[in-house]
Amino acid sequence: MIKVLIWNEFKHERKSETVRAIYPDGIHRAIGEALKCDDIEVRYATLEDENCGITDEILADTDVIIWWGHMAHNEVPDEIAKKVQSAVLSGMGAIFLHSAHHSKPFRLLMGTTCNLSWREDGDMERVWAVKPSHPIVQGIGRYFDLPHEETYAEPFDIPEPEELILIGSYEGSEVFRSGATYKRGNGKIFYFQPGHETFPTFYNESVKTIIKNAVYWVKSDYRKVIDCPNIKKIQ
Ligand code: ZN
Repeated sequence: MIKVLIWNEFKHERKSETVRAIYPDGIHRAIGEALKCDDIEVRYATLEDENCGITDEILADTDVIIWWGHMAHNEVPDEIAKKVQSAVLSGMGAIFLHSAHHSKPFRLLMGTTCNLSWREDGDMERVWAVKPSHPIVQGIGRYFDLPHEETYAEPFDIPEPEELILIGSYEGSEVFRSGATYKRGNGKIFYFQPGHETFPTFYNESVKTIIKNAVYWVKSDYRKVIDCPNIKKIQ
């Protein structure tokens, strides 16, 4: 059983009728529905929960964390973000969606500003699978279309991805590194760009397939705090 914790700040859905109409139970629940199957167990946490729903015990019992946040990144306490970072370094898988590029845990793990260029006018996005052999894009064709998405454009201030799997292109000819993987410590990380709150992106079949594939891919069987002790010379 893969234990997945879906973290959502859960603010837009309660503040905006437009967003609530698309995700009445929250973005986290829509993602959770997409993951439902016999070997994935889904749990949820939001900003409203005590300690953001994140403790050392919960993280130790989580194989994969999925993070969506946008307007309230700064309301996540630094020590919670550090706990997530530490868990990833010891082998917890992590998937950061859309505006989670600016979340505290993602920035800690990347070590860069993670700034990007953007415009919000509901353009169509075509997402290209540029590494068709990768497990994360199995079941996806050469590309898939999202009728409306927020345009995210380069430059995107991330470290060079270990694998660039998806590239998004937009009506204005912008391009963006939409699917990228990293390894940090013992943990695997996937950043995936689609998922603006005012569009029904998390109901798109290709998006759902990619997130589910990514859960299997970032999940690690090796979970251990990396310890580098003071050592004695072997006699
Ligand atoms: Zn957005």
